Amino acid sequence: MTTHFVSAFALLCLSFAASTALGGETAVEQTGDGVDLREDSTFDEDSRSSETAVAAEELVEAVPAHEHDVPLADAVTTAEGQAEPLLLLGQEIPPGTAQRLAWAATELFEGVPVSTPVLVVNGERPGPTLCLTAAVHGDELNGIEMVRRVLHDIDPDKLSGRVIGVPIVNVQGFRRGSRYLPDRRDLNRYFPGNPNGSAAARIAHALFKDVVAHCDALVDLHTGSFERANLPQIRADLRNPDVVTLTLGFGSMVVLHSQPTVGTLRHAATLAGIPAVTVEAGGPAQLELAEVKHGVKGIETLLTTLGMVKKRRRWGDHPEPVYYRSSWVRADNGGILLADVSLGSTVRKGDLLGTITDPMSNARSELRSPYSGRIIGMARNQVVMPGFAAFHVGIQAEDVVSEEAVSDVPRHDDAGGYVDGMSE
Ligand SMILES: [Zn+2]
Repeated sequence: MTTHFVSAFALLCLSFAASTALGGETAVEQTGDGVDLREDSTFDEDSRSSETAVAAEELVEAVPAHEHDVPLADAVTTAEGQAEPLLLLGQEIPPGTAQRLAWAATELFEGVPVSTPVLVVNGERPGPTLCLTAAVHGDELNGIEMVRRVLHDIDPDKLSGRVIGVPIVNVQGFRRGSRYLPDRRDLNRYFPGNPNGSAAARIAHALFKDVVAHCDALVDLHTGSFERANLPQIRADLRNPDVVTLTLGFGSMVVLHSQPTVGTLRHAATLAGIPAVTVEAGGPAQLELAEVKHGVKGIETLLTTLGMVKKRRRWGDHPEPVYYRSSWVRADNGGILLADVSLGSTVRKGDLLGTITDPMSNARSELRSPYSGRIIGMARNQVVMPGFAAFHVGIQAEDVVSEEAVSDVPRHDDAGGYVDGMSE
């Protein structure tokens, strides 16, 4: 009993210390290498926050799940013969049926396995296996509802291929309302995991082996993090043709080209031959219906585009732009941040994005956009520290130097693998 009490107390202290660190984002800045990230593209150090260094952990190599002889775009049209039973998590799911299975990664801290549902629809006809994962970060709720809606909407008799949905990957974080695992590790830095590693590495390894290895394509659902929200958007490495197929399949959704960070599910899956994208929609710790509907519409359009589901109408008459670069605009002063734009706003270079007012001196400073583009992510109104990343601007293509091809977009992941910030 005593030991149990002590460890629970230590955990409490740990989470207190961590939330203090998050409140003051300057802690992150101090650990940097002195490089000013303000003008950087999609890469941001902020969400490293108090996470345990991943570099110390060795991850196993992502083993190719299976060979793909045909491009993802042709997976349905070239599928031959009858649909076969799907063997998953020790169960056999016959064609033309849907089932709810349970997946438990490992014995947890308390010694009691905690399982999380896995929803499976095995179609009447053969085709690829599309996987949807949500709540890899336990406080990101919108994706959970998207998975539920998509999976329960599919008619197994009218499906070519399979759809596997894991609504709550990080069940421990979810139960505590936390982005992280109970040991403060970010699960999305440990894929494809390691069966002998830390708790995070073990959970990542189990998910990868038990579920992800069965997928032909994967969509990982996220939201912004730390009081920031994202315009519904796809993050994709557009150098990979199958990833491009996935990306284009969503119809009218903003696309941000981004090379995945080492350790993310998106990175590990793609490396294993399973093209993957991240969908970002909304912010953490709440359910946002408009964002949920946007995501569901995108995923259902993807099922149609891939030929897995037949529908007459597609959602793509008004394609959204692809942003090859983006930049976070940061606060120079501390104070109360109030936004003058909203998610999705189109901005011109020099436009006012928001103001920061010092609550004591009443001094006011302005945040202006260094680029023409669109607000694809932003902080909620709150008290901020100098250096706080407040507005994420998707940079309009004209502003990007012409010779900057996709492959030349600057990246910083040599310094420990960070990317995209506030989210994935
Ligand atoms: Zn996330």
